[in-house]
Amino acid sequence: MRFICDVMLGRLARYLRILGLDTVYIKNYQELINITQGAGPFCFFTKRTKNTPEGSIFIKADRIKEQMEEVMPIISPYIDKGLFLCRCLDCNTMLVDREKSEIEGHVPEFIYHRHDRFKVCPSCKKIYWGGTHLEHMETWIKSLLKDW
Ligand SMILES: [Zn+2]
Repeated sequence: MRFICDVMLGRLARYLRILGLDTVYIKNYQELINITQGAGPFCFFTKRTKNTPEGSIFIKADRIKEQMEEVMPIISPYIDKGLFLCRCLDCNTMLVDREKSEIEGHVPEFIYHRHDRFKVCPSCKKIYWGGTHLEHMETWIKSLLKDW
């Protein structure tokens, strides 16, 4: 299952990626048509109320916490805890592990010394380490998932 978030739901897209879900963030309607044509099943989260394709789900909430609660019943069957933090938040690409030695010089020194495990996005080259993804929301994410 592929998830698509419209331009109003950028934060939601990032959170779905944290959970490992394949999530496309679109900026306009033409992108949606391009992505969904001939593709497999998808679920389109949107703030639009009109002219939405089949498979669209209107998101009522404006705040990310409530948005996550809204989508949880839909996304929970697709969540695989083994895929948490395995996807680039910016571009949705699956991350790859990198040796610490390869990272030296590419991240701030205090980060380099404080962390042992690093991942890199092969597409946009962004480097991730423990904490980057969670943005201090770890506790909240855990509590959200506990009920599912
Ligand atoms: Zn990336």
